[in-house]
Amino acid sequence: FAEVALVLGDQLNSKHSWFAEVRQHRLFVMFEMRQETDYCRHHIQKVVGFFAAMRAFASALADKGHKVLYLALDNKQNQQKLLDNLDAVIKHTQCNQVLLQQPDEYRLDHMLSQWSATSKATIDWYDSEHFLTERDSLTRWFGDKDSYLMEYFYRRVRKQTGYLMNGDQPVGEQWNFDKQNRKSLGTKDPLPEPLLFAHDVTPLVKLIEQQGIGTMGNIEPQRFIWPLHRGEALELLDYFVSHLLCHFGDYQDAMHTDSWTLFHARLSFALNTKLIAPKEVVEAAIDAWQNDPERISLNQIEGFVRQIIGWREFIRAIYWHFMPAYSSTNFFDLHQPLPSFYWNGETKMNCLQHSIQQSLDHAYAHHIQRLMVTGNFALLTGTHPDAVDSWYLGIYIDAIEWVELPNTRSMSQFADAGKLASKPYVSSGSYINKMSNYCHNCHYDVKRKFGANACPFNLLYWNFIDQHFEKLKSNQRMSLILSQWQQRKPDDKAAIIDQAQAFLESLPRS
Ligand code: FAD
Ligand code: SF4
Repeated sequence: FAEVALVLGDQLNSKHSWFAEVRQHRLFVMFEMRQETDYCRHHIQKVVGFFAAMRAFASALADKGHKVLYLALDNKQNQQKLLDNLDAVIKHTQCNQVLLQQPDEYRLDHMLSQWSATSKATIDWYDSEHFLTERDSLTRWFGDKDSYLMEYFYRRVRKQTGYLMNGDQPVGEQWNFDKQNRKSLGTKDPLPEPLLFAHDVTPLVKLIEQQGIGTMGNIEPQRFIWPLHRGEALELLDYFVSHLLCHFGDYQDAMHTDSWTLFHARLSFALNTKLIAPKEVVEAAIDAWQNDPERISLNQIEGFVRQIIGWREFIRAIYWHFMPAYSSTNFFDLHQPLPSFYWNGETKMNCLQHSIQQSLDHAYAHHIQRLMVTGNFALLTGTHPDAVDSWYLGIYIDAIEWVELPNTRSMSQFADAGKLASKPYVSSGSYINKMSNYCHNCHYDVKRKFGANACPFNLLYWNFIDQHFEKLKSNQRMSLILSQWQQRKPDDKAAIIDQAQAFLESLPRS
């Protein structure tokens, strides 16, 4: 072979120009590696999802006539490390050219860039042909700054793509309909069923166990629910636009004990592995809205478009702008290990129990569960951002560092002092009570600020404000809360702090 082309596990983009025609002199290589299974403890469904999707992708390529070398985890030739595998393939094939797609993860980008500088083969870099914006779009559009606002980035992408635009004005004369998108679900609102696939992945689960790979979470090996190839990703997209988009905006922040998916798309795994592209997701949603604006109102479609072309692209740009220093930020100087029930869901706090248990069962939680339940609690309990990052990176099927890290360390933990969030996302129990039915059957009483059975979020929230008062003082958006705390009666303050400290001391840590 004259050329070797590397396809990483999150580069399963069958529409990439590499695959437009069959070239007999080009060998595509794909590796299942311990390097990837072991850099953090992943959910079993995440490991299975990536490897099963890679296998499906490799066999689809081979069926089309492409030459593919696929090294499974237990293949004797597999050196389990990317560069060792690449060197061995180059030596064996005597190729003189290696084709690489720009990786999305800093770790892999750094590794491959260093290697390419010393490799004897010529290295050709390609775009992954997936995103709508460039890695360095923040600097190019807004200059070199310490923090950026998603809203301006989003407007720029709207103008650039023309999505939901009338000339240079936003459709509906507003960029953002978020005010309409904060509904909680009433007792009479119907809860949608998710579209679940049912793959038999038993052999892969056995292989992972045989190889002694440490994982977390649960799996039903005969009913693996996630999409594994492009056709299924498109089915999931079609299901979303047909059944869920009509309420996506309304309930995007809602949580409910009887539904782990609500009106969310569950497309993040398919998007992040590049089985489908953001462009086609957004265009399918916009088509559905244009065809039936009575059923899908503007706040639903705008809310969804903002997630894909706004948040997702912005998060990527933030990651590349601030890495690598970004990954070790710790603004509040927190050092506690993660509460141990993050690994088994065993807590009397109903909101945490539900959000963690469904993450263990399905490798999925929706945004507000991640941000305002598990993320909120981790920050309020003084957990080290490294421990929080590593849990989020492991547990979710969609977790790849470029998207996990800014969401966790920055948006959720405010460890970077506000590069993308203008204030820490912390709240007392009243926010969770407003947006969910979790508090109805909880052991704790959300209305009690302190005293017997008081909701721990209420205690911890004010304890956090008290502890970090000096650091929060410079933040305009926190001034009202800080002055509320200052005005509380000293006896109440002391009772809250004492009870919060006792709670923190009794909290089991992993
Ligand atoms: P929907 O609610 O249906 O949204 C549609 C799509 O919009 C998602 O598939 C996703 O591609 C995109 N999107 C929405 N919000 C974001 C966001 N904040 N950042 C990036 N894309 C977004 N998302 C990941 O893909 N991987 C992660 O590892 C990840 N970690 C997170 C950690 C924390 C602490 C938080 C608060 C959020 C995290 N998110 C992550 C963002 C978001 O929670 C998930 O993208 C979303 O829950 C995926 O489910 P869905 O496909 O049903 O999303
Ligand atoms: Fe969570 Fe507090 Fe509500 Fe219980 S009462 S579900 S701990 S917010």
